[in-house]
Amino acid sequence: MTLGMVLILAMAVFAGAAGLAEAGQQNPNRTDGEIQILPVQGNIYMLVGAGANITVSVGFDGTLLVDTGSAQMTDKVMATIKQLAVMVTGSTYPPSPCVGLRCPGGAGSGAFNQWGWSSPAINTIIASRGPVKPIRNIINTSVDPDHTGGNAKIAKAGVTFTGGNVARGPGGSGESAEVWAFETVLNRMTDTKAPEAGWPTDTYYTGSYKWNGFFNGEGIELFHVPGAHTDGDTMVYFRYSDVISAGDVLSMVGYPVIDVAKGGSIQGTIDGLNKILEIAIPQFRSQGGTYIIPGHGRLCDEGDVANYRNMVVKIRDRIDDMIKSDMTLQQIKAAKPTLDYDGRYGSPDAFIEAVHRGLTQKR
Ligand SMILES: [Zn+2]
Repeated sequence: MTLGMVLILAMAVFAGAAGLAEAGQQNPNRTDGEIQILPVQGNIYMLVGAGANITVSVGFDGTLLVDTGSAQMTDKVMATIKQLAVMVTGSTYPPSPCVGLRCPGGAGSGAFNQWGWSSPAINTIIASRGPVKPIRNIINTSVDPDHTGGNAKIAKAGVTFTGGNVARGPGGSGESAEVWAFETVLNRMTDTKAPEAGWPTDTYYTGSYKWNGFFNGEGIELFHVPGAHTDGDTMVYFRYSDVISAGDVLSMVGYPVIDVAKGGSIQGTIDGLNKILEIAIPQFRSQGGTYIIPGHGRLCDEGDVANYRNMVVKIRDRIDDMIKSDMTLQQIKAAKPTLDYDGRYGSPDAFIEAVHRGLTQKR
């Protein structure tokens, strides 16, 4: 399969998504049961159809995933990742640090490779087809089963880079891929006695965490937003590819899901959306530039996130006004503070309840 074919495939995904949108908002998560690949930018690809969106970095260091989808889709996810890795890194000339569609000169044709400065033409003569590198890292954006369901199986199939060149290849000395998450994700999994094979192997507890070392030619930064969708949310920023994987702080298929029982809050959700806007730089009039992969639904740019943030803040303010006029939750729901957005985002009840709870708890 050529990268041109991937593009055609990606356009088919867009066309399919548009068709679904027209068909109605009843089940915005529905798919054809297959995993689709959308090339995003730089090293980053988006896998659609596994429950939550999966973000994939593919390159000469191996594969890194943000989220693993739901458990019942894992086999298809792994087959798709393998196909993608072969397509991107199994070229007959060595990949440059930039292996995405937007690289200068096209995929894998960057001027610099491990043999120095060279041309793709020379490389096709002197190089042989490279082995496909394993899955080395997984990052979970939250504890939700449609984001972590594939952890156990995919981590077991992967190999961790444990240091030195010995491990830098398939079948290296690592036993399985590292699974990263904010520390409350691990706490929750141990508390609920989730199967240990799916637990994070590495956690962080600070507001942000810079990985020590590049992966596929770029720095990767984890951001924790306290109390947004849950109390264990992570957003992942790929600094060279310029892509943010936002997790469930951002959704294109509904109002924010604020899981109050797991420590989510309206203020944290707004803070998270603002954090994305703080990082993202649009190419032109809030379009393009930094791309943002939401937890669910289509790919976004800064304009999409700004619209979503504005919607959330507007509804928060309306509900706040109603609370100040001594309206009960029942009366607030009856007044339909989300009416102008319901056609786009569906049933607002859970969202209104979470906002109401967040605003009344403060007083
Ligand atoms: Zn989700």
